[in-house]
Amino acid sequence: MRHLIRELEAICGRERVVTHAHALRTFESDGLLHYKGTPLAAALPDSAEEVQALVRVCHDARIPWVARGSGTGLSGGAVPVDDGILIVLSRMRRIIEIDLENQRIVVEPGVTNAEVGRAVGPGHFYPPDPSSQIICSIGGNVAENSGGAHCFKYGFTTNYVTGLEVVLSNGEMATLGGKELDGPGYDLIGVFVGSEGTLGIATKITLRVVPTPETTRTLVAYFDGTDSAGRTVSDIVAGGIIPAAIEMMDSLSMQACEEATHAGYPPEAGAALVIELDGPEAECAPLFEDVIAICEASHATGMRIAQDEAERALIWKTRKAAFAAMGRITPNYYVQDGVVPRTRLPEALRRIDELSEEYGLKVANVFHAGDGNLHPLICYDASHGGEPERAEELAGLIVAMCVELGGSITGEHGVGVDKKRYLSKMFSEDDLDAFHRVRCAFDPGGLANPTKVMPTPRLCGEVPGPYRRHPLERAGLAERF
Ligand SMILES: Cc1cc2nc3c(=O)[nH]c(=O)nc-3n(C[C@H](O)[C@H](O)[C@H](O)COP(=O)(O)OP(=O)(O)OC[C@H]3O[C@@H](n4cnc5c(N)ncnc54)[C@H](O)[C@@H]3O)c2cc1C
Repeated sequence: MRHLIRELEAICGRERVVTHAHALRTFESDGLLHYKGTPLAAALPDSAEEVQALVRVCHDARIPWVARGSGTGLSGGAVPVDDGILIVLSRMRRIIEIDLENQRIVVEPGVTNAEVGRAVGPGHFYPPDPSSQIICSIGGNVAENSGGAHCFKYGFTTNYVTGLEVVLSNGEMATLGGKELDGPGYDLIGVFVGSEGTLGIATKITLRVVPTPETTRTLVAYFDGTDSAGRTVSDIVAGGIIPAAIEMMDSLSMQACEEATHAGYPPEAGAALVIELDGPEAECAPLFEDVIAICEASHATGMRIAQDEAERALIWKTRKAAFAAMGRITPNYYVQDGVVPRTRLPEALRRIDELSEEYGLKVANVFHAGDGNLHPLICYDASHGGEPERAEELAGLIVAMCVELGGSITGEHGVGVDKKRYLSKMFSEDDLDAFHRVRCAFDPGGLANPTKVMPTPRLCGEVPGPYRRHPLERAGLAERF
């Protein structure tokens, strides 16, 4: 152990290798505080070469490691593994190249999402906008395939990564893609994006950025409940309109946000939709009128149209503050992240209400309604015996409901450690084996973020060599090419 630490210090210098138990507590969990771990050490590299050297040391000593960006993840992905090394990328914050002529920016992984936006603005912007954007890192966004309010129209992180430099678990450096939109061969960037730190560490990221739209129009429409708000979302999309964003807040989340930002949301409203349209003025203006008409036809109880950039910013600040604002109405909460087909939103929200009543725990809902991506925030008090367990059980039932309604166990927060137990609700054993083989192809030693994502301890070492035969092959009904 002492020898290992000395090797890490030789790479990063003593001041960037954290070993003291108190100091390591900074890194013990991510944004989902349920899961904690204590690594042997946390190393904070300054460059891709240092990352590569750290991973090589781990490889030679067969020590597992976990990459960490800003630690805002909500599925426990960056939780350290005991007896492993945490590789913290937050010091790697260089913007390497801004190439607006080709609509690209090349950054190190520790650059925050908001810094990318600032670097290419005001003429361009980077659309994926997680609500945590002022702090979360682009490396974390890549690993989680993060989304955000504007992904309904613009797509997720995976639609914006054109090139990656990655350090593989044997310490090799690989370059995937570049500035081109698509390259020949297998889409390894697509494989890496969303791999949650299990395939390697991204050390350089090339992103596509897009021109800032000519105009943006934003409103908040209030409804008496989530049923009518949910139907309005479907009506808008069915009307052929693709808003840049449609976000829903129920009354409990509005109450929390209002206490945080004093935006002036009416306390009697049962639900609110934040709707934003963008594009050329000639297209946006009439569509915005159509949206207003649809909200009115859906019995909106009131509407607030942003009159200027300051009011628009306040509307978004209020929406994006939602998770943090929950602290004003509950001592603890558990964030769930699941997806249902958009048309089934009212039904899903009704079932969440029923579960909330059955479990005696309040649930606030604030989410990306256009994508059907729910974020129920289950309120509980950890000092009340049994409440954390009840909250977790309730969260599990919400996930099961999402799958039952034809959706997914996660929309954007990833599987991490929290959701791996639900993976088999969506995927067959054969599917999981296929995932596992991809993982082993990148990391045969099982050192990269082990114990995350896959449901059972499927260590790569357990299935070396040829894949076992499928029952159809054994029966002579199929053959592998
Ligand atoms: C208040 C709040 C609001 C949020 N809103 C949203 C939202 O709207 N949309 C959304 O999608 N998410 C949201 N999140 C979740 C979170 O911010 C995102 O998942 C984000 O991408 C995590 O980035 P990070 O830098 O904090 O990563 P971390 O939490 O540090 O790590 C996340 C995962 O990425 C891996 N990783 C980190 N860096 C690298 C790298 N360079 N190479 C390889 N793997 C790496 C880690 O091992 C881990 O598995 C929110 C979180 C909070 C706290």
